[in-house]
Amino acid sequence: MPSELIAAIATGPVRAAIGTVRLSGPGAARCAGAVFRPADGRALEIHPPKTLVYGTVLDRTGKGVDMALAVWWPEGSGYTGEEAAELQCHGSPMALSLALEALFAHGARQAGPGEFTRRAFLNGKLDLTQAEAVMDLIDAETPQAVRQAAGQISGLLSHRVEEIYGGLVDVMAHFHAVLDYPDEDLDPFTGETVEKALEQAERALEALLATGGRGRLLNRGVPCAIVGRPNVGKSTLLNALAGCERAIVTDIPGTTRDTVEARCVLGETLLRLVDTAGVRETADPVERLGVERSRRAMEEAQLILVVADRCVGLTQEDMELCREAVGLAPTILVWNKCDLPAGDAPVPLEALPDAVEVSAKTGAGLEALGEKVDRLFPHGAKGEGEALLTNARQTEAAGRALTAVERAGSALKMGVTPDALLTDVEEALSALGELTGKTVREDVTDRIFSRFCVGK
Ligand code: GDP
Repeated sequence: MPSELIAAIATGPVRAAIGTVRLSGPGAARCAGAVFRPADGRALEIHPPKTLVYGTVLDRTGKGVDMALAVWWPEGSGYTGEEAAELQCHGSPMALSLALEALFAHGARQAGPGEFTRRAFLNGKLDLTQAEAVMDLIDAETPQAVRQAAGQISGLLSHRVEEIYGGLVDVMAHFHAVLDYPDEDLDPFTGETVEKALEQAERALEALLATGGRGRLLNRGVPCAIVGRPNVGKSTLLNALAGCERAIVTDIPGTTRDTVEARCVLGETLLRLVDTAGVRETADPVERLGVERSRRAMEEAQLILVVADRCVGLTQEDMELCREAVGLAPTILVWNKCDLPAGDAPVPLEALPDAVEVSAKTGAGLEALGEKVDRLFPHGAKGEGEALLTNARQTEAAGRALTAVERAGSALKMGVTPDALLTDVEEALSALGELTGKTVREDVTDRIFSRFCVGK
């Protein structure tokens, strides 16, 4: 089925210096040309492709609504792989929507969420891991997440998976040749060669799966619990962190108690603060006794910040909390209120996990806290240039491939003839194909692209 001509405001309905309207599908250049009058009087499609042309954007009645740049791409050369065009206008939501309306009047229809990237995928311009990385890049909240997503768009993960896939395909191809042409003088695959190939795939898949945790933390944030006695400054710290520049605080109502998922960037690490409602409610006398609650938050966490009041000194209760935290996850003792004189209580140093002095009130020491957190989660330095599995879909598919390869490997060891392993190898290939999108089911791609924004 020939694809339809789609259009959308790619930059969203926000007031900004520039705004882009994007078009893809057969006739994109002609349609863009119908709502854009180049200053030199020649039609847009007569201009060379991939070249910016200056001119007037017209509304559906042919009246000028902006002075802008236009560009078009012939089939095969743009983002989607189809004929495409863009109008690079001023970022006026009204002017942009008039331009979009004019495009609709000339045969385009509104693009759905992720429809441009979906077409890029269907036309082989991007595989599924690359398409997902486009989404990750847009959503990235830390420099590390950006670098990781950019690497994945360039094909880092795809290449890694392709290598594993290629190794298994070689096994299959040789098997089939031996089975299909028994009279030819082909080297029958010895069990040993197959075993080696399977072991190689197994090791590579294990290494890839080991990156899954890191990839997820990078994009979703490290679940972090802020715990401590009442009045030590947990809420103040939370607000200081969540108030930081790139913070996103979302209220999620409708759960048994309204929970608040605060996300913030500390150092270069994205943190997802677990059960912050518990922290906020400590003013409530009932919640002051919420030991159970902070325990639960700590159990979910992969980073625990135990806040203690440096003016008071470390109490028995603080130490208990530290001890408990250290047993559950990497823990940092946040010695708060360092803007006030320190208390006299002696500090038993051996009870301290990694400690840092801060003032949640003035912000002093938060940078040092960030550095400590970065050191605990060094995915940035390692992550660059490395293929990581970054979401549950990828991890699940790689896990299935590994299970199938392991099954094949152990069957071989038990003396099953190599050809009986073909089913397992095929299953591994199919799982890897799903990972990159080679053999993915339509409902899965639907789900992936529906998470995109319109215009992407
Ligand atoms: P929570 O019960 O642990 O959440 O503690 P709060 O964040 O509500 O803080 C308790 C009190 O300590 C409040 O009056 C805060 O203003 C104060 N406080 C918190 N952090 C600091 C700090 O770094 N320096 C000073 N001087 N006061 C602080």
